[in-house]
Amino acid sequence: MKNYDVIVVGAGFAGATIANLLAKANKKVLIIEKRAQIGGNMYDYKDENGVLVHKYGPHIFHTNYKEVFDYLSSFVPFTKYEHRVLGNIDGTLVPVPFNFTSLEKCFDKERADYLKNKLLALYPNQTRVSILDLMNSDDEDVREFGLFVYEKVFVYYTAKQWGIHPDKVDKSVINRVPVVLGYDDLYFADTYQYMPVEGFTKIFEAMLNHENIDIRLHTSARDVLKFKDDKIFFENEEFNNILVFTGALDELFDYAFGALPYRSLRLVFEKYDVTYYQPNSVVNYLTSEDFTRISEFKYLSNQDIKGKTTILKEYSLKYDKDNKESDPYYPIQNEENIALYDKYHNLAKQYPNMYLCGRLAEYKYYNMDMVIKKAFEVANNIINKDK
Ligand code: FAD
Ligand code: UDP
Repeated sequence: MKNYDVIVVGAGFAGATIANLLAKANKKVLIIEKRAQIGGNMYDYKDENGVLVHKYGPHIFHTNYKEVFDYLSSFVPFTKYEHRVLGNIDGTLVPVPFNFTSLEKCFDKERADYLKNKLLALYPNQTRVSILDLMNSDDEDVREFGLFVYEKVFVYYTAKQWGIHPDKVDKSVINRVPVVLGYDDLYFADTYQYMPVEGFTKIFEAMLNHENIDIRLHTSARDVLKFKDDKIFFENEEFNNILVFTGALDELFDYAFGALPYRSLRLVFEKYDVTYYQPNSVVNYLTSEDFTRISEFKYLSNQDIKGKTTILKEYSLKYDKDNKESDPYYPIQNEENIALYDKYHNLAKQYPNMYLCGRLAEYKYYNMDMVIKKAFEVANNIINKDK
């Protein structure tokens, strides 16, 4: 084996960012990736229709971290993209997050005017309010309105997505989607909302195209790494340099304390001989259907393709570690699962040269910008350790 300074497991944004920064700092890096390609869950490619599709579900870049946007846009050109989502409530399409346009579509004019005025008076300095705050308001009308939105927007969608009633889902998950007190119909409130003109995969190709980086695809950490007596072995040789792990910790440690629960997705792509299938990039099905949402990729990067389109329906289901087709997508945050994760984390701490980063390795519901920001920190820690 070549003498690598760092082995990085996983070529998603966590692993690719760390590998890129360490390679630039003159470290020899080996990336191990079990899939057939780099990019992690951000991987996109052109399908038979010529449509750029996201293999692991629709991904939209948005952030308030200037350093993250500057970093990514140093690799490829980005174009402004403001994401809007429509929700199908009993057959009517309304903006999500639920805003004043949605309110006007769901209530008669008199009631809508009354509710809008009341909300503006009660929340004079707030444009985005938590649905949970509305439902717990001291004001009876606001409470009733909050309950209406909860029932129509959150209950069925969340039951489909998480397999449980939203009352049992961590508040931080529900609070990702607020209620908007105004007509703003953007899904995200972040300063930087852009998409890479030619897709996400091209970013990874540019990040990892470095003479200090080698990549081994089709290689699982479980097959090449062993952990014994507080030592790490790579292909049966003791490895005393740095290991960065971005996969699932329970899998790495052979499910020693039991499996960490995740939600997975069954992703169904459909191709149609029409220019557009639906009026918007994403339509959430809030009161009907078994799938949660339909994404139409052409909208996500303004792809000008006539007479053909590709859509994606997402069916949420339990992750099954024994099924090769099943992928762990969403960590399920609750006290019990976090306590279980902590056991694995403590085990990982026995290996001081091992660094954890990413949605799986940290068991956190991170957006991509959070993962990249975390990766900056980990790379800096590794570089500074050697100083
Ligand atoms: P991943 O991208 O999962 O990469 C981990 C990599 O490690 C994978 O390639 C995996 O194959 C590899 N790996 C794992 N275990 C091993 C092993 N044992 N051996 C070798 N390789 C291994 N974020 C946004 O900002 N905007 C969005 O719109 C958005 N939409 C999303 C939609 C969906 C459906 C999902 C599931 C997530 C979405 N996210 C979004 C979150 C985003 O995907 C993640 O934050 C980001 O991709 C996580 O990067 P990562 O490197 O931590 O993990
Ligand atoms: N959610 C909902 N209705 C919606 C959109 C979101 O109930 O129309 C809830 C659901 O529980 C979801 C969570 O809010 O899991 C977070 O939504 P987000 O769009 O951030 O999820 P992601 O894009 O990460 O799947």
